[in-house]
Amino acid sequence: AEHPTCAWPGCNTPAERGQFHHLTPWKHGGETNVANLVTLCNYHNGVNEDDPNAPPQRGRLTRQGGTIVWQPPHTSL
Ligand SMILES: [Zn+2]
Repeated sequence: AEHPTCAWPGCNTPAERGQFHHLTPWKHGGETNVANLVTLCNYHNGVNEDDPNAPPQRGRLTRQGGTIVWQPPHTSL
């Protein structure tokens, strides 16, 4: 797997205890494929901001140049 642990920076929860997260949410047209999926623990899957148009809170994970990166609140990549 691309991430043996939760992909959120600084989180070491094993991936097998997490869940697949859609980088681009289903409701925003995201597909269920390797490029759009990342492993997050239950907690970080909950705090990730799925809606880029919602008020910024905890930031979100996104894919940039093939790498999963954390996008801080109040920014756009
Ligand atoms: Zn986590």
